[in-house]
Amino acid sequence: MIRAVFFDLDDTLIDTTELAERARRQAISNMIREGLPVSFEEAYGELMELIKEYGSNFPHHFDYLLRRLDLQYNPKWVAAGVIGYHNTKFTYLNTVRGVRKTLLKLREMGVKLGIITDGNPIKQWEKILRTDIDDYFDSVIVSDFLGVKKPHSKIFEKALSTCGVKAEESLMVGDRLYTDIYGAKQVGMTTVWFRYGRHANDDLDYLPYADFTVKEITEIPEIVRGLNSEEQLE
Ligand SMILES: [Mg+2]
Repeated sequence: MIRAVFFDLDDTLIDTTELAERARRQAISNMIREGLPVSFEEAYGELMELIKEYGSNFPHHFDYLLRRLDLQYNPKWVAAGVIGYHNTKFTYLNTVRGVRKTLLKLREMGVKLGIITDGNPIKQWEKILRTDIDDYFDSVIVSDFLGVKKPHSKIFEKALSTCGVKAEESLMVGDRLYTDIYGAKQVGMTTVWFRYGRHANDDLDYLPYADFTVKEITEIPEIVRGLNSEEQLE
């Protein structure tokens, strides 16, 4: 009997990848408009390299971008970048198509809901609050608080105990085969790979750990219903 469904956040509940790209492009355009003396392609390319090296949560992207471009520090350009980035983020931050309908249906079925995510806790909560989906969830677990990252078992076990369910009573839905699917399978959860976004072709070695693969998040309630009715027939 499936009593709880856990979701990954980025590119599973919320369209993050596309948003970040759009926001970074807007940041560079804004900096150039305020006088940054390089081409869009050069600045954007350097920014992407920087993010690859320092991570997306590094707090000084735009300062370091100027250093990489051998330009003198200019707070006006940095501010222009920050404004472009944030304005885009706030305007376009949205849930993946069908998410609300899916969550509502699962709640109506009496299933508990949780989020299991990596990343900066404040940034993750900001996404949850801005898209106004927090009321649907019984539990939100951000790995940083536990000192681990997915696929570490600790984060999945914490989520299960917070909801008071056993691994075999729960489903994990995520877009990353290694972190979400392999991780959840290690503790004994049933897994649904959401084949969506930029990771749709990544980590395919871990495909055997996915019990189900879906291309629409709206397919989840039917999977839960199927699993639960199968069990009743046994
Ligand atoms: Mg994800």
